[in-house]
Amino acid sequence: MINEGISRRGLMLVLSSPSGTGKTAIAHKILDSDPNFFLSVSATTRAPRPGEIDGRDYYFVSRARFDEMVEKGDLLEHAEFCGNCYGTPRAPVEKSLSEGRDILFDIEWQGTRQLAKAARADLVCVFILPPSLAELRRRLVLRKQDSDDVIDKRMATAESEISHWNEYDYVIVNRDLDESVAAVRSILTTERLKRVRQTGMEDYVRHTVSEAK
Ligand code: 5GP
Repeated sequence: MINEGISRRGLMLVLSSPSGTGKTAIAHKILDSDPNFFLSVSATTRAPRPGEIDGRDYYFVSRARFDEMVEKGDLLEHAEFCGNCYGTPRAPVEKSLSEGRDILFDIEWQGTRQLAKAARADLVCVFILPPSLAELRRRLVLRKQDSDDVIDKRMATAESEISHWNEYDYVIVNRDLDESVAAVRSILTTERLKRVRQTGMEDYVRHTVSEAK
């Protein structure tokens, strides 16, 4: 990794998109290839889909438990989406940032706005667009994870979600998974090289100069 060994501040990478755009596949490819990344696992009141595992994909909680987490300030951000509640547990994020790790968030625009309010300087937000709405519906149907009713509901919200694309730092049209992953990787390389994030650079430069004398 470039500038290896020079300490830097962790960043918070947000990926948002209407569901079915391929955001989760992109997120997993990034996580698999980058051991410094920590995935923020959200709490939700939504029922698990086939194959989803509690604690890995989400913390599946009751509405009462979710409300309690909100009340106690245990969530960094939270939002309602398609009739369910979603939120980011605060403690693991704070721990990872203090360890200098990067964190990946798969959250929607309302949550992104809240994170931007709390920590704009640490945030890098990327919006993933589908090639078209027809392609989005095709992918949701192919995924076979949701009933027709739920797919209709998700398509109905997709357009309003897409309307928030211009609140993001970067926008990627996901035509090809590998190309999109490569684009996210280059965003990460650039963002990690930002001078303000390279907290160890001052020491590094000082040493380089004194060694040269
Ligand atoms: P899904 O039900 O398809 O897993 O997620 C629905 C939407 O909720 C997606 O856009 C996803 O990014 C978003 N989401 C998941 N977790 C969170 C969270 O903790 N906070 C917010 N604000 N949105 C979330």
